[in-house]
Amino acid sequence: RRAAERQDCFKPALTTDGHRIEVVANISDGAEAVHAVDAGGEGVGLLRTEFLFVNRDAAPTEDEQAEAYTAMVQAMNGLPMILRTLDVGGDKAIPYLSMPAEQNPFLGERGIRFCFAHEDLFRTQLRAMFRASARGPVRIMFPMIALLEELHRARAIAEAVRLEIGAGPVEIGMMIEVPSAVVMAPEFARAVDFFSIGTNDLTQYTLAMDRMNPVLARQADGLHPAVLRLIDQTVKAADAAGIWVGACGGIAGDPRGVTILTGLGVRELSVSIPSIAAVKAQIRDQSLAANRALATRALACTDAAAVRALVS
Ligand code: PEP
Ligand code: MG
Repeated sequence: RRAAERQDCFKPALTTDGHRIEVVANISDGAEAVHAVDAGGEGVGLLRTEFLFVNRDAAPTEDEQAEAYTAMVQAMNGLPMILRTLDVGGDKAIPYLSMPAEQNPFLGERGIRFCFAHEDLFRTQLRAMFRASARGPVRIMFPMIALLEELHRARAIAEAVRLEIGAGPVEIGMMIEVPSAVVMAPEFARAVDFFSIGTNDLTQYTLAMDRMNPVLARQADGLHPAVLRLIDQTVKAADAAGIWVGACGGIAGDPRGVTILTGLGVRELSVSIPSIAAVKAQIRDQSLAANRALATRALACTDAAAVRALVS
């Protein structure tokens, strides 16, 4: 029986009505790349590259990064891997990089904004990523995109780097984690290959509730209908443009989140390694038609508690 369960975790997850949902992993280092595959992950939906930059006193070199990314790509053994460019600022400070003192760090030079302010560092990281892309299916993703011009600028830098080193084409995507990106999703969708919804930040910025604040933790719920309606808009914009949408925030690995996100049309769930098997098992147990019906009702709810009660 256990052996059978173990076998199952390596099979794709199809709903009872035959729709495939890809279940991939959120990882933060090389050891986790190996674990993700062992646990039945069908790839990596989010590599948080911050791990290479913390707990040291200088930025990693291009060679160091290329080596680290390449080792992970090789561990994936042909499965796709999404490398997210550096997402520091906000709560993630790095002592050797000059970070501005900010009154509201989560609304400051975070994510892609930080990379524009340190363009050499950004280019070095992109060069390392494109080098690793020679060894397997790599996708590159930008965090914290709020404005179209940010996406265009990030893409232009990436393309220049790619041509410099003579790498082949790589799929480019962006995180959907700022409300303005959802509002402008029809335009964004025409300029990327995929979206990945970062529900942690999307919830924080939509509800204006600090994701780290313990007092607000109960209310800062990614299943709030305000967040779900934004996810719905995102999927519709992506469908219209013919690109796919994944989700990589915390609710992607939460049982209710799995039901609602798949029901809204999210087709890739990127979850923590310990959740992979359970998420796959849940998908196999549900029909997408039923999840769609529940998601439609969830969109009509007026608070998160009602959504949770609906999907209990
Ligand atoms: C998110 O914001 O949901 C996300 C996946 O990114 P991070 O948690 O790294 O900010
Ligand atoms: Mg985020």
